[in-house]
Amino acid sequence: MQHYPVFLDMTRARVVIGGGGEIALAKLRLLLKTDAKITLCAPDFAPEIEAHTPRVTLVRRPLLACDLHGARLVYAATGDATEDARIASLGRGSGALVNVVDNLDASDFLTPAIVDRAPVVVAIGTEGAAPVLARKIKAHLEEVLPASLGVLTRIGKSFRAMAEHLPQGARRRAFWSEYYDTAGPRALEQGGEAQIEQTLEELLARHLDAAAPEGHVDFVSAGPGDPELLTLKARKLIDRADVVIYDRLVSPEILELARREAVMISVGKEGFGPSTPQKEIHRLMIEHASGGAHVVRLKGGDASVFGRLDEETEALDAAAIRWQVIPGVTSASAAAASIGQSLTRRGRNQSLRLVTAHDMQGYADHDWRALAAPGAITAVYMGKRAARFVQGRLLMHGASPETPVTLVENASRADQQIVPTTLAHLPQQASALAGPAIILLGLAPKAAEQAFELQEQAL
Ligand code: SAH
Repeated sequence: MQHYPVFLDMTRARVVIGGGGEIALAKLRLLLKTDAKITLCAPDFAPEIEAHTPRVTLVRRPLLACDLHGARLVYAATGDATEDARIASLGRGSGALVNVVDNLDASDFLTPAIVDRAPVVVAIGTEGAAPVLARKIKAHLEEVLPASLGVLTRIGKSFRAMAEHLPQGARRRAFWSEYYDTAGPRALEQGGEAQIEQTLEELLARHLDAAAPEGHVDFVSAGPGDPELLTLKARKLIDRADVVIYDRLVSPEILELARREAVMISVGKEGFGPSTPQKEIHRLMIEHASGGAHVVRLKGGDASVFGRLDEETEALDAAAIRWQVIPGVTSASAAAASIGQSLTRRGRNQSLRLVTAHDMQGYADHDWRALAAPGAITAVYMGKRAARFVQGRLLMHGASPETPVTLVENASRADQQIVPTTLAHLPQQASALAGPAIILLGLAPKAAEQAFELQEQAL
């Protein structure tokens, strides 16, 4: 992030624009939405600018250093590169922040695209990289943010002190959610602004009477990494959580979806790295949920696949805390999708195995004969370090060294890697990977398989 967004208080700010034509006018229109003291300096002014006197001060000559006293923002908007550069240098000399219109490199700040529902203002910036994208996002937000949002927020703001009678956290949020989602818009529609204040008072009385909510835990499946692979339910619950307890494999993009005020607790569990003891995870969930919090226990992939889910739900049962499980995309599904293959196929495999190469005792034992059978498909989790062991067992039970194997590292993430190989080379290939990986035994990437077939035909 080269440009850091901030909202400037313009009530007492002075802004100076160098320029009097179309470019200056475009900047002026936005600035007129604020209470800033605005001065424009130019030999001549477009009639639309003249029309704004005396709200704005016009100085009929090129900008000079003496015009910049106390200026916080300076726009160089003459459209003439040399003159703009002169203004920019004077502006900087006066200590102001300078924007040279349409010249990113020469500017200290950018004016973002704006969706105005004041006091709700959305600023959209692309650091100059994609103005088209900024306009698209703006158009989308203009559609989804109702015009009434400004009025509701303005009146809501004046009621904040009253709402503080509700305890901070879930109860106060429930009050505001109901106001913005349903009660507020309805009151505005039925009785206009006058109705809103009365509605707020009634709503507050009702929420003050309501019993304190009970804390609970949602086991939310975070999927293999791509935030777009989250279910709508998962997204909604992450968005509402008071506390998020997450594993190391949950991607940063997904953690970003939590509210800024949410308490984020990492219980980083990595195959062999440092991890939070399971008992400590139980203690954290119970402590927060007993205090009335909505806890989201975020697990990579699907929560019910190699995630020690039962131990955690049993601990909650013992503490009489409510919980539910939200299913999700397990990494084997994402890995198969990445190579265009189906995990089951008529005539090839009627069953599919999800196995882990490790259990509490060390290397996990399996029905190796079944895994080694021709056409068998197995997705191995946590298999990188055990690759040699898995290879040995399969060969011992009759698998062909030529059995196709595909390693998918960081499935669904930007740094996803697909390594097609055979059972004969599995250990070498697996040891070269650093990130989490799924070993798909019996599957080659679809495209590669076709290429193989073509090669064979050619021979
Ligand atoms: N509940 C998870 C699995 C947890 S066990 C799920 O359903 O996917 C951790 C193992 O999952 C890792 O060792 C790795 O084998 C696999 N894994 C998790 N995320 C992955 C990803 N993005 N790409 C490939 N494998 C992944």
